[in-house]
Amino acid sequence: MSAAAEGLDRAAILAWLREDDPARLESLWAAADETRRRHVGDEVHLRGLIEISNYCVRACGYCGLRAQNREIERYRMSAEEILVCAHDAEDWGWGTVVLQSGEDYGLSTGWIADIVRRIKAETDLAVTLSLGERPDEDLAAWREAGADRYLLRFETSDDELYRRIHPGLPGRLSDRIAMLRTLQGLGYEAGSGIMVGIPGQSYDSVAGDIDLFRGLDLDMIGIGPYISHPSTPLGVGGWTPEMPPEEQVPGDELMVYKVVALARLVCPDANIPSTTALATINRVDGREQGLQRGANIVMPNLTPPEYREKYEIYPDKACVNETAEMCRGCLTGRIESIGRVVGTGPGGRRRT
Ligand code: SAH
Repeated sequence: MSAAAEGLDRAAILAWLREDDPARLESLWAAADETRRRHVGDEVHLRGLIEISNYCVRACGYCGLRAQNREIERYRMSAEEILVCAHDAEDWGWGTVVLQSGEDYGLSTGWIADIVRRIKAETDLAVTLSLGERPDEDLAAWREAGADRYLLRFETSDDELYRRIHPGLPGRLSDRIAMLRTLQGLGYEAGSGIMVGIPGQSYDSVAGDIDLFRGLDLDMIGIGPYISHPSTPLGVGGWTPEMPPEEQVPGDELMVYKVVALARLVCPDANIPSTTALATINRVDGREQGLQRGANIVMPNLTPPEYREKYEIYPDKACVNETAEMCRGCLTGRIESIGRVVGTGPGGRRRT
């Protein structure tokens, strides 16, 4: 079995996901790393993540921000606070800020559009939004205001599992694939991705997820382990479906590396982060290993310290007690320690 992207059909992807021979896995890492080097180079772009609100209307079975979780204190950042973070990112030479939140309609269409306009007017930053499933009109207004990219993970391509862990809102179907296509039509760079190891997620469905990354021609692909949160239904085992144990994909580090490496092979010029969730399950060198197995992006947390702990999508998030200033030094060191360089400029997708 070759690790070349050519002929990496769903069956071959599935075989790699089940591969456990260390020598063969080395060949997968090497192929992903070489593909990464050839298509996106040695630059690692830093995207400053600003978690602007933890209010959420959704009831996702996996996420600590779900509306029903009464154990977190809710917050919304002010426009001024967000602008200060954006200026910090620019001063430090980062090319992009990512504004992320729960699905919070308290963040009005116009208010977000104003913030996007101000960031674009006052800085040279690329602006990425990750605000959940908003109506097409909102997406169009924010694109008009200057937003460059949008992140919306489809989480799993298994319809039944998706519906179970991500209930719709009354009268509104949740169709993240359709929304990704709308974003692409509006001219956004579109990012998506999955969690690995969701209870009820099969090997075969993860092979389908990777195939779908290619089918959607994604500009960005985020892949992280599912991390159980005790204040959620999935976290307490309540929603766990029946599945033969040999079908269940583990949410461990090795499986995340496999998915990252395969995503790189099927989408050679996509921007792929080495995620904070991965760094959370291996604090020693998870980030570096992700970067050496296909990833080329890191998303340091720019959220002010007083809000960080409250944005608890999963527990014990890596770096939650660090300031952005500390992350900056630490991440640069980690990137340089593996012979890579911190990227400059917005670092958008360059098709190869
Ligand atoms: N409200 C936005 C942003 C959500 S947070 C949205 O729904 O798109 C960003 C990502 O965190 C989610 O897409 C999901 O993949 C991930 N996430 C949420 N809960 C998680 C958990 N328990 N473990 C690991 N990742 C999680």
